[in-house]
Amino acid sequence: MQSLRFTALENLSGVDLKITSEALTGNKITEVFGSNVFAGKAMRESLSDEAYKSLMNSIKAGTKIERKMAEQIASGLKAWAMKKGVTHYTHWFQPLTGTTAEKHDSFFTLKSDGTPLETFDGDALVQQEPDASSFPNGGLRATFEARGYTAWDPSSPPFILEQGFGKTLCIPTIFVSYTGESLDYKAPLLKALSAIDKAAVDVCNYFDKNVTKVTPTLGWEQEYFLVDENLANARPDLIMTGRTVVGHAPSKGQQLEDHYFGSIPERAYAFMRDFELESYKLGIPLRTRHNEVAPSQFECAPIFEEVNIAVDHNSLLMDVMNKVAKRHKLKCLLHEKPFAGINGSGKHNNWSMATDTGVNLLAPGKTPKTNLMFLTFFVNTIKAVHDYADLMRASIASPSNDFRLGANEAPPAIISVFSGKYLYDVLQEVKTRVSNKFDEQDEAILKLDLHRHIPELMLDNTDRNRTSPFAFTGNKFEFRAVGSSANCASAMTVLNTIVAKTLAGFKVEVDSLMEKGEKKEIAIMQTLRKYIVDSEKVLFEGDGYSEEWEREAERRGLANVKTTPQALDAFVTEKSTKLFTEVGIYTEKELHARHEILLEDYVKKVQIEARVIGDLATNTILPSAITYMNSLITNIRGLKEIGLGDAAVKAQTQIANKIAEHVNVISENVQAMIEARKVANKVADSRQKAIDYCEKIKPYFDVIRYHSDKLEFLVDDKQWALPKYRELLFLR
Ligand code: ADP
Ligand code: MG
Repeated sequence: MQSLRFTALENLSGVDLKITSEALTGNKITEVFGSNVFAGKAMRESLSDEAYKSLMNSIKAGTKIERKMAEQIASGLKAWAMKKGVTHYTHWFQPLTGTTAEKHDSFFTLKSDGTPLETFDGDALVQQEPDASSFPNGGLRATFEARGYTAWDPSSPPFILEQGFGKTLCIPTIFVSYTGESLDYKAPLLKALSAIDKAAVDVCNYFDKNVTKVTPTLGWEQEYFLVDENLANARPDLIMTGRTVVGHAPSKGQQLEDHYFGSIPERAYAFMRDFELESYKLGIPLRTRHNEVAPSQFECAPIFEEVNIAVDHNSLLMDVMNKVAKRHKLKCLLHEKPFAGINGSGKHNNWSMATDTGVNLLAPGKTPKTNLMFLTFFVNTIKAVHDYADLMRASIASPSNDFRLGANEAPPAIISVFSGKYLYDVLQEVKTRVSNKFDEQDEAILKLDLHRHIPELMLDNTDRNRTSPFAFTGNKFEFRAVGSSANCASAMTVLNTIVAKTLAGFKVEVDSLMEKGEKKEIAIMQTLRKYIVDSEKVLFEGDGYSEEWEREAERRGLANVKTTPQALDAFVTEKSTKLFTEVGIYTEKELHARHEILLEDYVKKVQIEARVIGDLATNTILPSAITYMNSLITNIRGLKEIGLGDAAVKAQTQIANKIAEHVNVISENVQAMIEARKVANKVADSRQKAIDYCEKIKPYFDVIRYHSDKLEFLVDDKQWALPKYRELLFLR
């Protein structure tokens, strides 16, 4: 029987590029934008004045919605959705498994007298009880009490998800256990956002009394790979783990950089138009699309939004991309490292804070006064990252991101901050010129000098250092170490929490100096100076990918935690527990539960990979190699039978020999890996088990891969069953 690989290759040439998509009809984006979202006009038209006002209030102030209002809103929502052909609704949430979850219920119901009716009441809108036992809960809730609740989050608007076979009304919710502990990404994120709002408003009020709300903003950049679906289906590793666990490097990789600058291939372009259209309907403001560095790698990015909405939109987008890819007979790979030897995928998180007076707090100001405000938020962010670098690292830790962080072409596992030369000099200046006997005159001069140093528009002046995990890029910070498959909420919860905490501490220090009689501006400058000195070691302007930096970082005492099980420790240190409980993000119990969930997730994922590698090696790779070896043996025997000597069979004997060696090594290592798993599986402590999986099982992956890739090079192409890198990456 012909292998899946060759069937896939045959089908590939038959792919019909004429995708009959609405996307290609040339609609104006503004005509479809937000058409499937219950916000703005749709909301206004569907709700009574009273219900509309109450919902708007709740969105703005985060207040609870009364029962009676919920009833009215539900009824308006149902009418709107049914007009659009919706039959079902679901509470939509983001459990810690990293994907989104839905449990569909129909509007349809039978009344007690048997009358069929479509209903959707306030209760159904506000709260739902999914069978939650199958979501990870880290011991918070034993399976027998399988009760978790989803609760409506009015700050993110309901939307309609269209799939080939129907339309579903999705209601964004948080997910909590029946005892109130959060079981998802969203509940803690909302708490962090409200913490930073308060802390930032307090600090803003030093400069501007009119500020009453600060909203953190997020603009993510999503990288991904596209692979033909038939070819992907012939790679069990891609299907089961999202990455190729074996595969010989192609003769051509990304060295020519011809993909990055090249035009977007037609097939990818059709896919993009299509998922963009779906995204626009859902109100996701996508703006950019382009090829990325690696072959078959692409990126899209939206206009930034407030963090909560941006997080939902990214989760939704990943789902939409996967679904739309299917229609195009493509597989969209969101894994951080689907292919060895070429670039991996990240999801840069561009982050800033905006006031309700319309100021971006991380954009340099137009006047010396607003520049001091900018500098305050800039320095506080740096201090936060310095003080809680371990948490920043933990927030992006995942088994898939481990293949990228610290590998040579990704941001390193060392958390540092790039400020850019201008601001680096400004910080140095504050450091040297602000002193104990710093007076009003010094202050005035320094403020003017700094103002001259900080160009209003820094975008073009900032040296775009692409190697820093956390870089200032003119009017925002860019957290680059976030993985492509991650839920942004993890990084955003930590970042907003630590900045909230730092700003609150800053206010305490400035206030206390002012109480001692110091002038406000001088108190601020003095405190900034102190923060600059305290956090200096986290600033790094050089090449983050270099080996010198690893050594330098070590000298500076910066952590370089390369693996997830170790990185996750940061969540449960005394310092983090204090931080998270004080700021009100997690209880100690929740922190430990989360730690547990993430460790379990790590073990499960590495375990699945280990099994996939074992299966592939045993059922696919070794048989290909042995079949080819047998044909060599038959040949050699034949040549000898007709009287030819050793010289005539020299090359074939050598090849057969090499194959036999690789076959033996693979087979031995697969066995040893299975034995090691048996031992690790018996370890009761989750952390130790994760470390064992990382240190005792993962190393087998590399050995098996090395020898498998050698075999791929040696074995007759026709007998190799797995699609090769050159096919996965270069065929369209
Ligand atoms: P690039 O970094 O690719 O040169 P930009 O600087 O224009 O491009 O923006 C990259 C991303 O940063 C976009 O997703 C954009 O929405 C986001 N971004 C821009 N300004 C802000 C901001 N103030 N807050 C959050 N994200 C922002
Ligand atoms: Mg960028």
